[in-house]
Amino acid sequence: MQKLESLKFVNSYARLPEAFYDRPGPAPFPEPYRVAFNESAAALIGLDPEEANRAEFVNAFTGQVPLAGMEPVSMVYAGHQFGVYVPRLGDGRAVVLGEVEAPDGGRWELQLKGSGPTEYSRGADGRAVLRSTIREYLASEAMHGLGIPTTRALTIFGSNLPVYREQAETAAILVRMAPSHVRIGTFEYFAHSGHGDHLRALADYVIANHYPELCDRDNPYLALLEAVVERTARLIAQWQAVGFAHGVMNTDNMSILGLTIDYGPYGFMDGYEPGFICNHSDHGGRYAFDQQPRVAWWNMACLAQALLPLLEKDENAALEKARDALEPFDALFGDTFLGLMRTKLGLLEARAGDQELIARLLDLMAESRVDYTRFFRAVGRFHEPGWFAGIRWGFKEPEAFDAWMGDYCDRLDLEDRPDDERLAHMLSVNPKYILRNYLAQVAIDQAEKLRDFSEVDRLRRLLERPFEEQPDMDAYADLPPEWAKEISVSCSS
Ligand code: AMP
Ligand code: MG
Ligand code: MG
Repeated sequence: MQKLESLKFVNSYARLPEAFYDRPGPAPFPEPYRVAFNESAAALIGLDPEEANRAEFVNAFTGQVPLAGMEPVSMVYAGHQFGVYVPRLGDGRAVVLGEVEAPDGGRWELQLKGSGPTEYSRGADGRAVLRSTIREYLASEAMHGLGIPTTRALTIFGSNLPVYREQAETAAILVRMAPSHVRIGTFEYFAHSGHGDHLRALADYVIANHYPELCDRDNPYLALLEAVVERTARLIAQWQAVGFAHGVMNTDNMSILGLTIDYGPYGFMDGYEPGFICNHSDHGGRYAFDQQPRVAWWNMACLAQALLPLLEKDENAALEKARDALEPFDALFGDTFLGLMRTKLGLLEARAGDQELIARLLDLMAESRVDYTRFFRAVGRFHEPGWFAGIRWGFKEPEAFDAWMGDYCDRLDLEDRPDDERLAHMLSVNPKYILRNYLAQVAIDQAEKLRDFSEVDRLRRLLERPFEEQPDMDAYADLPPEWAKEISVSCSS
């Protein structure tokens, strides 16, 4: 376990040319108070959790006094926001304090979100509100608990500093961690702003530091594109299988490492609804739940477009390479999704007809808005009469569900697997606990109104182990209350 002084910073991103970042100075963050601290994330960098109590920790992670070795930088990037290209965005309210070497040899960028204005703030205040930092903190740890690639969250500090959104709120800073915060939009920035040599430097940097296995490939840039396409396709399959909607899949919110990044108006689905729109500002439903695979493909096409000059000298040859690299996306997504859904249903082998069986189930669930998480958690117990009645009750047309169930049982019979073994496996892949919107809202209300952060911590611990039965926590797996429908989540953060 390390003391703050023994954290070793390497800061590889800060070694890139000046055009890649701004070096913002500290902004006031008066009377900071601790909202949350995550020992699991601290363990990733080998940090002794006791260190979080030191003034040096508070000063460093509220952006006041960097630790020795830190070199704070805000990254430049561009991005397609709701389909419209914005040539320069960048970390308008974030700063990477430094990149720390972890005990396991990995590296983690430590980033403050909400730490004040930067060169990229475009007139906005550079702040984040308490509510949105709690939402991001909980979601990133919940996704990690579910085994889905994501940025991580180390700690949150609050302040009484007023921040104006639809109403007056107060400021907070989230400290998040990722091996890299480079986005698809970072590539777009250097591709479309006449910085050809910087585009190559960025690609070389990402390959050397984050895809070293691609260095020796004939065409490392093409290999990078292929690798990002693959990681992204698999990531989105995981989102779809767990019922997660990101809400703002702009290219500046898409990680070059295939991580879930930038949690804003996201939502974990309650009742199954393919057209679920979690972001109330998304009137056209561009980022609706069932659009995510298509949007991810579109975002990969933006990355391919940005990388074109590196793929081949000849433009037509480059285009052909780009097209070839995108081509596997649908199959990678589809196969991964199908595999995950099979596993959720307790099926080991791949058989013809599985896709149709799963599609029929999802159609029935959609018709009746069956609770997605509770259904899959329960379906493995269908041979217990009480459980079966409990599941069947949720369908508007129980006979149609019975017919599906009959086919499902026939399908299970094709596999020679003891029921108890199958059930145990199903319980290990179908979460009991997810971060329902209302659960996050309860924690936020307590934090805002009472300055009581215990629910934030309780949820974080609960969601660290979403597949395990946890004594006394059953209520957290109940159906959402009626008022959950009234919660409206917008882009404002
Ligand atoms: P987001 O919607 O959080 O992904 O942010 C989109 C872009 O706007 C990013 O470049 C952010 O850094 C920037 N941004 C969002 N909110 C603020 C804010 N309050 N102050 C400055 N920049 C912001
Ligand atoms: Mg600069
Ligand atoms: Mg963003």
